[in-house]
Amino acid sequence: MTPKYKLPRGTFDILPDQSKKWQFIRDKFQQICERYAYFEIQTPIFEQADLFERSIGDTSDIIEKEMYKFKDKKGRIYALRPEGTAPVVRSVVANNLVQPQNPIKIHYMGPMFRYDRPQKGRYRQFHQYGIEFIGSDDPYIDAEVIALGDTFLKELGLKNYTLEINSIGCPDCSGDFEKALKEYYEPYKDSLCNDCQIRLDKNPKRLLDCKVQECKKISENVPSILDYLDDKCRIHYDSVKKYLKDLEIPFIINPRIVRGLDYYSQTAFEFVDTNLGAQSTLIGGGRYNGLMAQLGGKDYPGIGFAGGFERLLLSLEVEKISFGESPSPTAFFVFLGKKAKKEGIKLIQQLRRYGISCDFALQKESMKAQMKAADKCKAKFALILGDNELENNEIVVKDLALGSQQKIGLANIIDFFNKKKS
Ligand SMILES: [Zn+2]
Ligand SMILES: [Zn+2]
Repeated sequence: MTPKYKLPRGTFDILPDQSKKWQFIRDKFQQICERYAYFEIQTPIFEQADLFERSIGDTSDIIEKEMYKFKDKKGRIYALRPEGTAPVVRSVVANNLVQPQNPIKIHYMGPMFRYDRPQKGRYRQFHQYGIEFIGSDDPYIDAEVIALGDTFLKELGLKNYTLEINSIGCPDCSGDFEKALKEYYEPYKDSLCNDCQIRLDKNPKRLLDCKVQECKKISENVPSILDYLDDKCRIHYDSVKKYLKDLEIPFIINPRIVRGLDYYSQTAFEFVDTNLGAQSTLIGGGRYNGLMAQLGGKDYPGIGFAGGFERLLLSLEVEKISFGESPSPTAFFVFLGKKAKKEGIKLIQQLRRYGISCDFALQKESMKAQMKAADKCKAKFALILGDNELENNEIVVKDLALGSQQKIGLANIIDFFNKKKS
């Protein structure tokens, strides 16, 4: 049967048998964030389009091609958020969440939207998790943010990933680097892809990000940003590396990391999956010292990272990591006869109100079919209620793992489960 309605291209349903995996990642991320004392913020999925245009920079692919932009009925121009940092910083500014000596540590999760060409692990509605630390440019913070990412990946069970770090300098020193890049690329100009020809004039750092094979080849011997850092940026970079060593987080230096977005400065880093080929960045992050001021706030420095759920799921599957047990009901009721069912559903409601998870098979009537359903959903106990039991105010409780069974009074059933819990 062809379905009447199709999913929008580049989107997908997270079906019940998959959602355990998502829950696993969400729970783990939340736990680790709390352990590092980062707390959750939730922002709307759409914002004024201008917020992204101003922060991300209008030469980026996101702004030029990939943003879902729309006019509402009053003609206001909004965009579905293509990333999480700008909305978070917008909220931090609007709600005055940072004070001198009182930085803020937050994390977020949720769907993001980019009108990109869908491919494996890449969707138009995709899901990200991320953290932001706003209000300090102490290099320790850079290391702490990285440490949180590392702890998260480790505790998910991932082994085959590496941390790559770089410094992309600040507005004071990246000018010289850009000049050097322009000089380097100029002789190859005609061989670059169309996008890169434009980038060469507007934002030459973006050339390092290009995925086109020819451009990649040309970029092989580009000058290194690390040779152009001024004293301030070099000292910062060196102490980030020192802190990472203190925190026992192995890293390699990759001067090619530039990050696609305009607002980054100094520290840039990526956790890269070494199993997956292209599209292998699990987490990408860096400093964005100018962003607060750019969005109308005080000039507080910030740093953060973001990662995609979809990419992470691929890595977890490749490394065959268990997502834990599916939740199963404590009690599964088996009703023999209409009268038993009628009384039984009251009992079920009572148990559920007491925090005991239970279920039954509404459309199955024979004992055999109902017991089978109890096994299938991996319930711990089957509770069997027929006319006889009802008459005596009793119920048969069968421990499905042990196979043993006993009769208990209907009045004692909640007690019975409470004792099992403790
Ligand atoms: Zn600098
Ligand atoms: Zn290119």
